[in-house]
Amino acid sequence: MQKTTLITGGSRGIGAATALMLARQGHDICVNYCSNQTRADDICEQARALGRNAIAVQADVSVESQVLRMFDEIDVQLGNLTGLVNNAAILMPQMPLVEMDADRVNRILSTNVTSSFLCSKEAVKRMSTDFSGQGGAIVNVSSAASRIGAPGEYIDYAASKGAIDTLTRGLSLELADQGIRVNCVRPGFIYTDMHADGGEPGRVDRIKSAIPMQRGGSVEEVAEPICWLLSDSASYVTGTFIDVAGGR
Ligand code: NAP
Repeated sequence: MQKTTLITGGSRGIGAATALMLARQGHDICVNYCSNQTRADDICEQARALGRNAIAVQADVSVESQVLRMFDEIDVQLGNLTGLVNNAAILMPQMPLVEMDADRVNRILSTNVTSSFLCSKEAVKRMSTDFSGQGGAIVNVSSAASRIGAPGEYIDYAASKGAIDTLTRGLSLELADQGIRVNCVRPGFIYTDMHADGGEPGRVDRIKSAIPMQRGGSVEEVAEPICWLLSDSASYVTGTFIDVAGGR
């Protein structure tokens, strides 16, 4: 069966590497992005050069109406969805709890958590055997921050990833007899532009001596287990977590 996978936040970083790796493995892809159309189009062009169908769809995945429109576009342009990577997330500048306001915390939670609920819901309606679907797989991208807590920096972000861990566990059990596997990858410190958004572009290099393997990770090292969890090689794997954090 042709695999067709939506990668949220597929325009850069881990999402872009995952989209390209999936295309190389034969998936048709929907590359979701929020603001950077040029980069999303570039990923799709590379996928088409590999012979795949690929579409770039703009949608703020924290907004239900935009998520619904995105899935409508997938239905029309790509057809039968078989996979979802809940990857899109944001980080905001480092600060302790006492400096955080409600707007910041709500924005982190809606972008990082509500988005995964909304996208998973639409994917389930298309993939679940209870809805006449043919099954599929969901991979949630959490973070080592859910275990570490990111004190003094971003406990809001860390807590959002704790919610993703719990969503993974609960949804995997809810869907286990509906043909959908739900798993989670938890990266550690990976070289992407996200750290600049969090106020410290050189963060990975500052922290790497505290990582047991003494280095940050690459986006491809995270994309590999995501792609494996989506593949038929992982057909008996659900509700599980793969830490990609150099031993941390
Ligand atoms: P990144 O480079 O900052 O890329 C984030 C992606 O998400 C971009 O494609 C961005 O699209 C998209 N995005 C942001 N807000 C969105 C929204 N509201 N709706 C739709 N798309 C949105 O991030 P990354 O470092 O690759 O991280 C990817 C995932 O890995 C995230 O879940 C992150 O929490 C997790 N993670 C990363 C690290 C790390 O060290 N980098 C560590 C642990 C976990 P536009 O560019 O178009 O706005």
